[in-house]
Amino acid sequence: MAEKLLIAGNWKMHKTPSQTVEYFRAFKPMVEGIDEVEILIFPPFIDIPTAVSESRGSNIKIGAQNCYFEKEGAFTGEISPVMLREAGCEYVILGHSERRHIFGETDELINKKVISALEEGLRVILCVGETLQERESGLTFTVVETQLRLGLSGIGDKLDRIDIAYEPVWAIGTGVAAKPEDAEEVHRFIYEKLKEINPTKAEGVRVLYGGSVKPSNAEAILSQPHIKGVLVGGASLKPESFAEIVKIGASIERSK
Ligand code: PEP
Repeated sequence: MAEKLLIAGNWKMHKTPSQTVEYFRAFKPMVEGIDEVEILIFPPFIDIPTAVSESRGSNIKIGAQNCYFEKEGAFTGEISPVMLREAGCEYVILGHSERRHIFGETDELINKKVISALEEGLRVILCVGETLQERESGLTFTVVETQLRLGLSGIGDKLDRIDIAYEPVWAIGTGVAAKPEDAEEVHRFIYEKLKEINPTKAEGVRVLYGGSVKPSNAEAILSQPHIKGVLVGGASLKPESFAEIVKIGASIERSK
């Protein structure tokens, strides 16, 4: 597992273009020179050009929070992977629980998006995770395996262009993160399944944890052996707290 830890910030529907400029002017110097981890920010679509130009020449990469699977056409309100690539995105998040549960995205739709994004040369962070009800019914592993297998179906040999975010739905935006050892158990399971899907490429996939990660719990989470990064929502909105998480990741990498 040679890849660096990935520290990713998902802004969700927060910040205007001018607030994006303000953020990057504060954040960039805070993380300047940190190359032990990969730093990635997912702003809303409208902020992507600003984020790309503000991050130019820095160690910060930009991605999108979603995309459609068609290249172009009569799909009002949608954005295609081709457009994201040209705008300067390297990554796209697909299957975030808010897309699944608020906007009704199915595993089948998410899979079409995964295939299309990979074809256009984007890297994909595929999100998986169980609801509280599913967890309480003992369905965590079944749900995660189903989302993984359906989401990655037909990707052929492109598993090395994928990272996974395990995000238990009950931990997202609630302030209550999963216990690091509970997350680790699911991460270990995800690696087992990835090995069944593609034995040669599974080890190169980074499985991130997401769900109420903040500076106070990042070290315990990132120290787990099968947790290869974090996807951070709320705590990525303030440059100070996101930079702190980046620095925690870098110090863990340095101590390896
Ligand atoms: C997320 O947006 O993917 C997320 C995990 O949010 P939060 O960190 O706010 O729980």
